[in-house]
Amino acid sequence: MRLQFLGSGDAFGSGGRFNTCFHLERAAHGNVLIDCGATSMVAIRKWGIEPNDISTILVSHLHGDHFGGLPFFLLDAQLVSRRTTPLVIAGPPGLRERLAILMEAMFAGSTAIVPRYPQEIRELALHERAEVGGLAVTPYLMKHYSGAPSYALRVETEGKVLTYSGDTEWVEELVPAGRDADLFICEAYFFDKVMKYHVDYTTLMKHLPRIGARRTIVTHMSAELLDRRDEIACEAAHDGLVVEF
Ligand SMILES: [Zn+2]
Repeated sequence: MRLQFLGSGDAFGSGGRFNTCFHLERAAHGNVLIDCGATSMVAIRKWGIEPNDISTILVSHLHGDHFGGLPFFLLDAQLVSRRTTPLVIAGPPGLRERLAILMEAMFAGSTAIVPRYPQEIRELALHERAEVGGLAVTPYLMKHYSGAPSYALRVETEGKVLTYSGDTEWVEELVPAGRDADLFICEAYFFDKVMKYHVDYTTLMKHLPRIGARRTIVTHMSAELLDRRDEIACEAAHDGLVVEF
């Protein structure tokens, strides 16, 4: 399975990186976008991704650097890419309302437009394994204030397991979320500074053996951690990075 980091940055453009957005290619059921941060439409163009080939967008939590690109993606689908195929957007409870607020704030009147393609917004229940566009997705509860539950997503597709932490400080829920995953993508913010709502690299490394993922890649690094990249003993993402797993 092939995944490309279209965006591997934090909310603040550290290192000139795009906001969080991963692109997963599948043999069947269409491709998947995992998070769609504010800059994601630019990243999609930069890496030559065809938006109409994306059938499913998963959202970890309702922060601008993780779902703020959706208004651009949806307007592009309607007006530029002239999408005709179904699109499913799935995320935490509150996604439907918060997306409507976001759309209206950014493009007034846009929620009145009837999509020219079948569009479905799904709100995923905690710990319930849901079938979403040919994926099995199980959300786990993270600790990261976003006005709605912030999720880590365990995604099963085509015989592989991919877990993405979203943003969170260390929580024990990361252990079952990532257990034995083929690919575990986890945020790491600072090198060793413990803070609220984000996990630091040193704490993550301490717990990694208990998670037992086959491969771990850290993402969403602060400027401080990016400066200390040479000291990281784990794979780290960068924009454009392609991984086969
Ligand atoms: Zn973030």
